[in-house]
Amino acid sequence: MANERSEIASLGEFGLINRIQQHVTIQNSSSLKGIGDDAAVIDAGEESVLLSTDMLMEGIHFDLSYVPLQHLGYKAVAVNVSDIAAMNGRPEQIVIGLGLSNRFSVEAIDALYSGIRAACEDYAVDLVGGDTTSSASGLVISISIIGKTKKGNVVYRSGAKNNDIICVTGDLGGAYLGLQVLEREKQVFLTNPEMEPELEKYEYVVGRQLKPKARMDIIHELEELNIIPTSMIDISDGLASELLHISESSNVGVKIFEDKIPIDSSAFETAMEFKLDPFVCALNGGEDYELLFTINLADFEKLKNHPDIHFIGHIHDNAKQNVMITKQETVVPLSAQGWNHLKS
Ligand code: ADP
Ligand code: MG
Repeated sequence: MANERSEIASLGEFGLINRIQQHVTIQNSSSLKGIGDDAAVIDAGEESVLLSTDMLMEGIHFDLSYVPLQHLGYKAVAVNVSDIAAMNGRPEQIVIGLGLSNRFSVEAIDALYSGIRAACEDYAVDLVGGDTTSSASGLVISISIIGKTKKGNVVYRSGAKNNDIICVTGDLGGAYLGLQVLEREKQVFLTNPEMEPELEKYEYVVGRQLKPKARMDIIHELEELNIIPTSMIDISDGLASELLHISESSNVGVKIFEDKIPIDSSAFETAMEFKLDPFVCALNGGEDYELLFTINLADFEKLKNHPDIHFIGHIHDNAKQNVMITKQETVVPLSAQGWNHLKS
């Protein structure tokens, strides 16, 4: 035992989280939901408190050679709000842990916080504390967020039922393609610093990468329409991976239709230019921060004309069959890596 050493890569991120989860026991009856959803759920009488945390690391999650600090600040808040949205909650407070090296000036931190403040204003969240430390590995921003919802209104990943309709908001794949554009421009700049980057054509996809929005607007609309989704998750790792989380948590199967996956025309064109399949980008790209949720058939009427909600498939009762029907009407299994047209 003492000499054993296993690589973390052999477990993967989700394998590692599962392993951590197995050794954790809940001791307080107020901890209604622990590890395994977009946020933890804590009993607060008539209401449930939602708690989540997300960390952004320089060199892993962002590259400051093309990410403006103001955008980074906004995004760090938005991705946390997105996890509260995914529980059907409203965000209320955040605390921020900041790791800094002396490479950063006071003005740089001002820029970061101007983005943080803008997001706090947009999502009506209060910044109520944090911690600041020096860092040997660049900038680290860790945000924890508290949200709330009425006790019966929490939406888990685990509530999807046979015949429910699978819905996604907005469009997918754009954030990943925006990242491809930014990476390419960085390489162009490194080879020839005189070249001005041409980003105008890619404004939409680059915006999707740099300035993601949490879909609180959808949460408010669902409430107005009196719809509580049966399950929900935000799309941070790509549609395929999130569908599999719903499948696993709800013990149901998903069936989606490739031609129903919403992709913006500029994402489509950018994908073509990069010789990437836009549907693969949507399935595996990640960072779009749209919402994926399921609704009872009875709620479909109320949503069917919504301009920004798309119905991509349905739930069935075979948890082992998670599939996509392609445009050619072939059935392909969904995997966390998604399905690659180019491979077959
Ligand atoms: P999301 O993509 O929605 O932020 P994650 O995939 O990061 O969710 O996390 C899935 C679940 O695992 C969440 O409940 C999260 O709180 C939990 N989790 C992630 N990392 C850890 C960790 N190091 N220790 C304990 N729980 C963790
Ligand atoms: Mg999430």
